[in-house]
Amino acid sequence: MPADSHASHAFATLAVHAGQEPDPVTGAVIPPLSLSTTFAQSAAGVHKGFEYSRSGNPTRQNFEKAVAALEGAKHGLAFASGSVTTATVASLAGSGSHIVSVNDVYGGTFRYFTKVASTYGVETSFVDLKDPESLRAAIRPNTKLVWIETPTNPTLRLVDIRAIADIAHSFPGVLLVVDNTFMSSYFQRPLELGADIVVHSVTKYLNGHSDVVMGIAVTSDDAVYERLKFLQNSIGGVPSPFDCFLANRGLKTLHLRMKRHEENAIAVAHFLESSPHVEEVIYPGLPSHPQHQLAKRQQHGFGGMLSFRIKNASLATSNAFLSNLRLFALAESLGGIESLAELPVIMTHASVAPELRAQLGITDSLIRLSVGIEDSKDIIADIEQALKKASLVA
Ligand SMILES: *Cc1c(COP(=O)(O)O)cnc(C)c1O
Repeated sequence: MPADSHASHAFATLAVHAGQEPDPVTGAVIPPLSLSTTFAQSAAGVHKGFEYSRSGNPTRQNFEKAVAALEGAKHGLAFASGSVTTATVASLAGSGSHIVSVNDVYGGTFRYFTKVASTYGVETSFVDLKDPESLRAAIRPNTKLVWIETPTNPTLRLVDIRAIADIAHSFPGVLLVVDNTFMSSYFQRPLELGADIVVHSVTKYLNGHSDVVMGIAVTSDDAVYERLKFLQNSIGGVPSPFDCFLANRGLKTLHLRMKRHEENAIAVAHFLESSPHVEEVIYPGLPSHPQHQLAKRQQHGFGGMLSFRIKNASLATSNAFLSNLRLFALAESLGGIESLAELPVIMTHASVAPELRAQLGITDSLIRLSVGIEDSKDIIADIEQALKKASLVA
């Protein structure tokens, strides 16, 4: 079958089939895991498209094709983590250049821009992009990349991808990168809205089973792809074939998982909104979310992440809630089949400066949930009993 034989297929069909042609030698319906580091050549320089596994690997290529198809992209490049995906894409910017990043970007991305890219002579401005027009004033003659995440973590603020793309592209040579980890390709496809590059921490929803650390970048721009492919090989932050195999297996049920994550998150959001113990629920799928209309416009759904605040909560109240959960694991990360809860102020966002945390609303009372795909009744019952116990703690 030609590689693009699924071009007209819908998402679920692509998730199952894109990049998964049966093995031409054995007919195996699931392409085999290709662990070989090197590939035999019939004459010097004559090979079947693979030479050395860092430069290209069949299992990795299957996964790259699959994610590219789901994002509506021409090309995909997989990496050993979301973080090295960020580092590799950021190195498109080059010494003496400037990046504009949304202000509440993933903590590891903030750390990379401020503590690593800065040492290579790349300067980053962090800007509140709630009003896309704020981008215009932040762009400098040497700006190469605009880096956004939407919804952001953990306060689930949205950025208008199309408006940002239009402004970014009104300046020559500026590329828009969207970290699409929170929505996954199922609920948001930024290339359709004008983004140039989409990155994911595959560790989260794309793999979805909390057993692989990996990343991917996709693009439809041939020149950007060639440069990134060169960097992927030169920097060498590639994933193992085994991880690619697992992530590809996870990807085949992305559509089913995301639907269930969302159904459960909506049920939890409604439960929390009706609870007398809860002060605020932040979920883009609720009409009470200040950017609900934008979420409806640019997303194909609302996802499985939500944050909330317990009424009159101290740090002790939040801790009591978290330590009384029985089904939820108290853990960092997100996007897996199991429900997770965490306290950003102490856990995922501890390294963010206290003033910035306060400005972003990351307080002692803010709890983040990654709602899993268990039965929603069990999820809600667990939250309910922990809330009751926590509300007795001032
Ligand atoms: C987890 C995460 C990353 C980093 O990915 P790793 O796979 O942990 O290196 C980047 N962006 C977002 C939004 C994430 O949630």
